[in-house]
Amino acid sequence: SRQFGALVVLVVGYLLLFFSGHVDPSWTPPFLLFVLGFSVLLALSGLVELKGEVSKIEAQLADARTDALTGLANRRVLDDEIQRRLSEKSRKGAGFCVAMIDIDHFKEINDRYGHLTGDLILTQGVADVIRKHKRTMDMAARYGGDEFAIIYPASNLNEASMAVENLRAAITGTQLPLEDATVAITVSIGVAEATGDDDADSLMKRADEALYAAKQAGRNQGYQHNSSDCEPITADELLARIA
Ligand code: GH3
Ligand code: MG
Repeated sequence: SRQFGALVVLVVGYLLLFFSGHVDPSWTPPFLLFVLGFSVLLALSGLVELKGEVSKIEAQLADARTDALTGLANRRVLDDEIQRRLSEKSRKGAGFCVAMIDIDHFKEINDRYGHLTGDLILTQGVADVIRKHKRTMDMAARYGGDEFAIIYPASNLNEASMAVENLRAAITGTQLPLEDATVAITVSIGVAEATGDDDADSLMKRADEALYAAKQAGRNQGYQHNSSDCEPITADELLARIA
């Protein structure tokens, strides 16, 4: 840095003057002390600068993994996590499920209340509720647009369906106060469980098919893909199955 250059010039200058006999040798100890102090200050300020750079890089890395609007993980992180879970499953047999969540008639809500209200629904109406409801080990992401996804580790299809049904009920029950209205938000959800033959695409495709079935059946509900077909998730039935 510039300060370091100045220090070098100072030392070289002093040495030249010293050897040409222009300085009193008694000046050397205080000069050395000065150089030492200056060096320590330089090193410290370098450290502080480095720390700033490190936090800047850390923030950039976090940005690359986060959806800017909702603060949830983004699709890339979700894809990576599914890959990781699939290889964990093939090595250790650890099962997991994926849920796809899509806001019902979101285009209409945007058209009717405006894009800013739409954003509020994405953040407070859905993302915050997902964050509040998920367990620490579950991973939630904004998949894109009005679609979200959750990975449920160490869960079978019925357990994940139970979690999904609770989440769906919570989102439906959330009232967002607007200036002159309250908007009813509902979501449709599809769940699929990873099998031994799955890759990320085939697993997401089944979750997507279940989501489509939930939309077809009238929205505001969850469907699970049981590897051969899609069936509705209803709380009573699930409770009976899990019990
Ligand atoms: P469906 O019940 O079938 O899901 O109907 P839909 O209207 O939700 O259909 P679709 O999923 O095609 O619409 C998604 C809409 O989400 C369209 C797009 O304008 C809106 N959207 C996507 N990203 C954003 C965003 O960041 N903010 C807002 N406000 N709207 C968004
Ligand atoms: Mg939608």
